[in-house]
Amino acid sequence: MSKVIKKTKSEDITFEFPDVEKKKQKKSAKKSKKQISEETSPKKKVVVEEKKKKLSAYVLAVVAVAVIAGAVVAIVRSVNAPVFSVAVEMVQVCPNGKVLDFEYKVEDKKGNNITESAKVEFKRGMVFISATDERGFYGERAIKANVEDKDAPELKLNGGDEISIIVDDEYEDLGAVAIDKCDGDVQVATDGKVDNTKLGEYEVVYKAIDASGNTAEEKRIVKVIEPVGVIYLTFDDGPSEHTGRLLDVLKENGVKATFFVTGRGDDDLILREYKEGHTIGLHTYTHRYDLIYQNTGTYFDDLYAIRDRVEDITGLESNLIRFPGGSSNTVSALYDGGRHIMSTLVDEVEERGFSYFDWNISSGDAGEAKTSEEVYDNVTDHLGEGTFVVLQHDTEGFSVDAVEDIIKYGKSHGYRFKKLEADSYGAHHWVNN
Ligand code: ZN
Repeated sequence: MSKVIKKTKSEDITFEFPDVEKKKQKKSAKKSKKQISEETSPKKKVVVEEKKKKLSAYVLAVVAVAVIAGAVVAIVRSVNAPVFSVAVEMVQVCPNGKVLDFEYKVEDKKGNNITESAKVEFKRGMVFISATDERGFYGERAIKANVEDKDAPELKLNGGDEISIIVDDEYEDLGAVAIDKCDGDVQVATDGKVDNTKLGEYEVVYKAIDASGNTAEEKRIVKVIEPVGVIYLTFDDGPSEHTGRLLDVLKENGVKATFFVTGRGDDDLILREYKEGHTIGLHTYTHRYDLIYQNTGTYFDDLYAIRDRVEDITGLESNLIRFPGGSSNTVSALYDGGRHIMSTLVDEVEERGFSYFDWNISSGDAGEAKTSEEVYDNVTDHLGEGTFVVLQHDTEGFSVDAVEDIIKYGKSHGYRFKKLEADSYGAHHWVNN
């Protein structure tokens, strides 16, 4: 109820009535006197009836127009509403209400794809796709829902279903990851023991159960084997734009390597190599055969330049070196004026406190190998029992790409990966000049 106060000239009159009735009652209050006088006259009554008819006809007309207008708006809306195409008759919904992916497409009336802006919801036991196009036209489509989760989580073993470790090496379970399409990450339980002190095959079982009780199980065979050999991965000519990626791979696989660096590349990469525990060796600053192999003076000037660079960056005075082209190179003969410089250098570097390293497996990445598959084959095909110094270049992206697989091969075949130290096996070549 509301209060309306109507002011007249002489006095204030107060009426009380519901809001919606306000106007009508105002009017009827005004007219009441007139109506009473009209009703007393029969002539006037007819006129009043006519007026009433006209009025109701008018009201009907207005209502009809409003209804038609509403219908037109509804038609315009439905005609312009986005169009839904759904490829399935039923959509899978998880017990937790998550709607699983299904194929559908939403287009506005002009044929523009607006699928990206559509919303998918599970409500009232159905799956609804709804969308509003650029012009503001809204539409939705309901699809039947099938609420259940019958599928086990997807269980993936980190490091594969068969791995080998060398006897007495620490065994670290690599674990597994289970992802369920309804429940997301699911915890994985592990069962089975590996005795790293005894040769043999061990089975480790991984199990993951989702919220609906669906179970996934995977087994891993862990072989405890005799050591077969040692692999020294060595990388020349860097650092380069591929070195960071290589360092990532080495870190992820827990492998230390050796870098024979030059004057090129970012200081930060050399610092990272050092900080991450790899060996920094010296390859020469310029790597210019015509310059370094002119005479021992030019060679050592260049060698000390790269040693200074490494020392400036890391504080480390490196005394491990690799000759460009190896100690067996013949290219030096083109520039040394017949001095047989390599024969001199191999002795002199040692006299000056350096240890030089050649290699006994070449990846071929500076020559015939052009793909990471070729690099991988060149390395793994030449492994056997013993100690292997592998030559690669971290300036070659395809060669860097092969490293992870080489490590995996080596580890699963009984090799230990080590970094070179001053007294490590040097894999020295026959000196040809
Ligand atoms: Zn080189």
